[in-house]
Amino acid sequence: MKRNSILILGVSAILILIAVQYYIINGILKQKDEMFDLRYKMLSKEVIDMLGNRYHTNGFDTAIYLINDYSASQISKGLFQISDTAVLRQKKKEILNYINASLNYQQDLSNYLSVFFERQGYEKNFNTVIEITYLEIIDFDKSIPIYSNEVFPGSRRGQRPDNLSRILVNPYNFEENNFRIHFDFFIDFSDKQELILKETSISLALSTLSILVVLIIFLITYRNLMEEKRLSNLKTDFINNMTHELKTPLSTITIAGKTLEMEQIRSNDAKILETAKLIGKQSIHLNQLINLILEISMWERTQFELDKRPVDIEELLLEITDCFKAGLNNGAEIKEDYNLKGISLQVDIVYFTTMINNLLSNAVKYSVNKPEILVEGFSLERNVIIKVTDNGIGIGRTDQKHIFDKFYRVSHGNIHKFKGLGLGLYYVKRIAEAHGGNVAVASKPGKGTTFTIHLPF
Ligand code: ADP
Repeated sequence: MKRNSILILGVSAILILIAVQYYIINGILKQKDEMFDLRYKMLSKEVIDMLGNRYHTNGFDTAIYLINDYSASQISKGLFQISDTAVLRQKKKEILNYINASLNYQQDLSNYLSVFFERQGYEKNFNTVIEITYLEIIDFDKSIPIYSNEVFPGSRRGQRPDNLSRILVNPYNFEENNFRIHFDFFIDFSDKQELILKETSISLALSTLSILVVLIIFLITYRNLMEEKRLSNLKTDFINNMTHELKTPLSTITIAGKTLEMEQIRSNDAKILETAKLIGKQSIHLNQLINLILEISMWERTQFELDKRPVDIEELLLEITDCFKAGLNNGAEIKEDYNLKGISLQVDIVYFTTMINNLLSNAVKYSVNKPEILVEGFSLERNVIIKVTDNGIGIGRTDQKHIFDKFYRVSHGNIHKFKGLGLGLYYVKRIAEAHGGNVAVASKPGKGTTFTIHLPF
């Protein structure tokens, strides 16, 4: 429950952060867009003013001259006499097209603009768009409308065009002898979005970075929290196991004590001896458990010191397995295959023995059938390799990652069949590493397990 609420809180905080960043960046982009338009509008106005003041031109002189000439020729060709509406409509279209083309191809304003922009170090890769909003042909006091926005609804003069990359530079109105025209002159930067993005790239990068940093910090914190929770669960399990382990010999001793109090037992020497032996055995077990707990806290505090000395490793292995075999009482079969003759290794005999014993006792403990264990020893590339293979219950893939962790025990449901404290393999790993080596596991559930220790020499 707690874990979920932390996750939900964290994720919501990150989502809010992303939303805020999105809002800010959007605002910046919009602002930049407006600035961009304003900048180029002002620059264009500057060019237009300069052309008027210095060169007495507006950039459309040639176009206007040609259009006037063309209009006059249309009038003299009898434009005003056409009465057939279909013919007139066709004619109007033709005139509009001609005038549109003249304005676009015979004007000098776009050239002036691009030269000016380039000289001032601004972008000059723009297209120009001329949108005629009103056109009529005039002959003295008669006039014939060719085109107007009212005639063709849908166009809107003065409004911001649909195409957001267009910048309205100036609306123009010209009236000559033979025509009257209104049109808008736009410049259009096709790569405007890219240019604006480039300008905002630092803000964009910073905001992405801040989101990433927050995300990473959250993930690390969350992982640490979960790890701590896991460890605390492991510790609770350990305490439960320990209590269970301590209770068993204690209750045996209590019962044995009670037995000794009984009349009929006291007269039976053999029974007394047997009970006393039981008490002795259980006390030793109890003592071992307590020592184990003491050892854990000792190992925690200091980097445990090894008392290393050169040892004939094959002899030591034989000794350990012989000793182990002698203590077996469940018919486990242990085979040995050593090929380490003459190899001497610097080891701490006590810790080394603990390490091998832990592996052997696990191999016996974690089996449901008659345990068959194979202990192998050989050398490979200046490493002594010791393998302990069993035919036991095996270990699942996910558990394999954790079995060397302190207190970790594979869950076998509620079955208390396999007793333990989750420390055996933790010790194996620490001892192997203290000798400069390592330990690995390979296992198939239901088939068996192999632990492999590498020790360099
Ligand atoms: P313990 O045996 O006290 O639980 P260990 O650290 O020795 O703790 O082992 C950790 C876990 O690894 C055990 O709970 C057990 O499930 C699993 N395990 C260890 N050795 C074997 C093995 N030979 N076969 C199957 N499972 C094993």
